Amino acid sequence: MNNNISPITIAIDGYSSSGKSSMAKALAKKIGYRYIDSGAMYRAVTLYAMRNNMVSPQHEVDSEKLIAALPQINIDFKVCEDGQHTMLNGEDVEKEIRQLDVSNNVSQVAVIPQIRHALVAMQQAFGTEKGIVMDGRDIGTTVFPDAELKIFVNASAETRAMRRHKELLDKGQQSTYEDVLANVMTRDHIDENREESPLRKAEDAILLDNSNMSIEEQDKWLIDRFNEVIAK
Ligand code: C5P
Repeated sequence: MNNNISPITIAIDGYSSSGKSSMAKALAKKIGYRYIDSGAMYRAVTLYAMRNNMVSPQHEVDSEKLIAALPQINIDFKVCEDGQHTMLNGEDVEKEIRQLDVSNNVSQVAVIPQIRHALVAMQQAFGTEKGIVMDGRDIGTTVFPDAELKIFVNASAETRAMRRHKELLDKGQQSTYEDVLANVMTRDHIDENREESPLRKAEDAILLDNSNMSIEEQDKWLIDRFNEVIAK
C-alpha cells in the first residue's frame, strides 16, 4: 500500500450470506484498514433483547422496552488471534450472535427505526478517520453515502444458503440446509421491504454477483476495484 495516499471509506453491502464479510475482511487486512461488521452490531442488540425477554417465540420484538434499554447496550469489537470478536457489555458474544436463533430474530430488530438510528450513529463514529471497510445493508446508502468505493454483492439464495450451511457445520454448529435457506429468504424479504433504510444498491455502487466466483477470484476483483479508486 502506498502510505502517501489518503485513506478512503469502503462500503460493502449485499444480501445475507453473500460472502461480503469475508471479502471485506480480506480487503481490510490486505490494505491495513479497519474492518467493521455492522451486521454483528444488529446481532448483538438482538441477543441482548432475547436474553432480556424482549422477543416472543413468534419473533415479535417489544420495541418500546428495547429502545428504552439502548443506553444499557454497549457494543464494541476486540481483535483476537482468530479475527475480530463482537463484545456486548464487555462479554465476548462472537459465537452466540452467529447462531440461527439470533439470525431468526435479527431482521425484526433491525426494522426498528430508533435502533437503526443508534447503530448508524455508532457506525459513523467508527468511520470518522476513514481508512475503514464496513459491510452491511445500508452502508453505501445511509451510513457512508459519500464512501469513495461502494460495492453491492449478490448471489442466488440457494448458493448463499449452501455456503452459510457449510460454514455453520465447519464451526461445529447444528444446521440444516432447509432451515438456513428459509432464514436467508425471510431476512432478504424483511431487509428489502422495511421502511427505514431498506436493503438496496446505492446508485453509485458497483454490482458484484459472486455466484460462480471462488474466494480468491472475488478477493482479487475487490482489490482491483480499490486500486482503481485510489489511482484516480
Ligand atoms: O450481515 P448479517 O447477515 O450478519 O446481518 C444480520 C442482519 O442485520 C441482517 O439480516 C439485517 O436484518 C441486519 N442488518 C441491517 N443493516 C446493516 C447490517 C445488518 O439491517 N447495516
